[in-house]
Amino acid sequence: MSILVLNAGSSTLKFVLFDDKALNELASGSVDWRGTCNTASLFFRCTAVGEEQFTTEIADYGDAVSWILKLLAANEFNEPIHMVGHRVVYGGTQFRQTSLIDHQITQSLEQISQLAPLHNPPALKTIATTQKALPASTQVVVFDTAFFADLPERSFMYPLPYEWHDLYGIRRFGFHGISHSYCSTRAAEILDRQNDESLRLVICHLGNGCSATAVRGKNPVATTMGFTPMEGLMMGTRAGSIDPGILLYLLQQHDISAAELDESLNRHSGLLGVSGISSDFREVEMAAHAGTQRASLAIEMFVDRIRSTIGSLAVSLGGIDGLIFTAGIGENSSSLRSRVCKGLECLGLYLDEEKNQNGQTDSDIALAQSSGRILIIRTREELMIAREVQRLFTRPKFPDQSTS
Ligand code: ADP
Repeated sequence: MSILVLNAGSSTLKFVLFDDKALNELASGSVDWRGTCNTASLFFRCTAVGEEQFTTEIADYGDAVSWILKLLAANEFNEPIHMVGHRVVYGGTQFRQTSLIDHQITQSLEQISQLAPLHNPPALKTIATTQKALPASTQVVVFDTAFFADLPERSFMYPLPYEWHDLYGIRRFGFHGISHSYCSTRAAEILDRQNDESLRLVICHLGNGCSATAVRGKNPVATTMGFTPMEGLMMGTRAGSIDPGILLYLLQQHDISAAELDESLNRHSGLLGVSGISSDFREVEMAAHAGTQRASLAIEMFVDRIRSTIGSLAVSLGGIDGLIFTAGIGENSSSLRSRVCKGLECLGLYLDEEKNQNGQTDSDIALAQSSGRILIIRTREELMIAREVQRLFTRPKFPDQSTS
């Protein structure tokens, strides 16, 4: 039997099929709409057969699920998929842990989905199609916000009128929690400090969406994404933190509507907005090398914001034992890591440039003299979701009296 994990991002649907015992990967891949309208490139890797990649018209996330299931069947994965784990970005205050999907949960998720407009609607469409296509399977949702459910109050409150918290539910939720949680556990393993409550980590998740989190022991103490996944670092198409006065000015003086602001801040800002070239870091980097000034500016701004965030999170921890780079840019761009780490010697972080260029994942790329280690960790959100699904089904139904 197997567990299918579906990870609906803002412009990709990633999937991994695991066996349900050892959680070995049987097949994996992604549907990727970046750059084009309905045409997606579909990448499929099957452990036993090999890889294939093609471009075809895939209208939406529902259509993508049908393609994935067709490809799995064509590759003779006929064993029943009896559990499906879905990543849902935003669980609000209602969803603090992994849950079985039922009608009530789907309805509640629909109600809160406008707060994560790039992510929750694709996940809901993915869930609905999977439920129809695999009616005998059990569907589980794992929330990105759950890792941050116990953020300290001083971290989750905003310096706004206090009653907005009670009236409108305004608070920091934090996102990318599945990745931050996986990376903090993996970093503790690599550093051989698994049960060390004093371990101080700063995790930089740098993909299309970007966020950084300070973790002490196993607990997040501060994170950059906030009430929505728009706050914090500069991203592929999202602005990250800006002066909210800019929004008021545009609304009041230039008649720009809330819908237009939403579209611009979510889809036309960040690397894309500044460079005018692409939201894809590789393309912006290539343009910068070719001498495009705005592409260089975009990268400089992107790097500056990461660096000042690392400083701030390190201070909130009182020092740093491990700086972690993860996700598409963090794992793959040695030039980005190199730029970010320049000047971090004041925090006791010394990059070994040779190891950085090698870019081996799940490795330490700091010099021996560095008091804080610098790690590249391949984030494995899908494995983390599969573990959560497995945990939900193996945990005891009643508290174990014998251990209390
Ligand atoms: P998502 O948030 O969609 O999961 P990813 O984690 O896949 O995003 O990261 C996508 C980003 O990673 C893109 O900006 C892409 O350009 C960047 N990226 C991927 N591979 C490389 C690479 N070899 N060098 C630099 N950037 C890369």
